[in-house]
Amino acid sequence: MIHRWLPVNARKHKFQTDETEICQGCGMEETQSHIFKCGEKDSAKTRTKAWGVLKKELGKTVHPLVLRHMWYDLSGVLGDEKAKSGPIYDEVEEGFRECFREQTQIGWEHLVYGRASMKWTEVNKNLMK
Ligand SMILES: [Zn+2]
Repeated sequence: MIHRWLPVNARKHKFQTDETEICQGCGMEETQSHIFKCGEKDSAKTRTKAWGVLKKELGKTVHPLVLRHMWYDLSGVLGDEKAKSGPIYDEVEEGFRECFREQTQIGWEHLVYGRASMKWTEVNKNLMK
């Protein structure tokens, strides 16, 4: 995944032209970034379920507020309708604004590949004290 070599339809089509590049769920081109934002109901459900598993695992070392910010900010940037209400900064410290700003510079899709702003670590450390 980190090298963007998942066997998504667009990739398969590139090497095997008899394969379709179309997402079976929504009819758009299925690229690696598409699988993180496909609007089709079952795709969204699968993503939510996978996030639940990941969140449970990350919850052992990452503060729930950090996880919530990462999820909402990432979902909002990737076009999830439910997250379009915007970041939830009003209830927390300024540190999350810095996380959002730096992650925006790095690129939000990079967060999915493990390239996160170091500000997330800083904020997490302060919250876990
Ligand atoms: Zn789709």
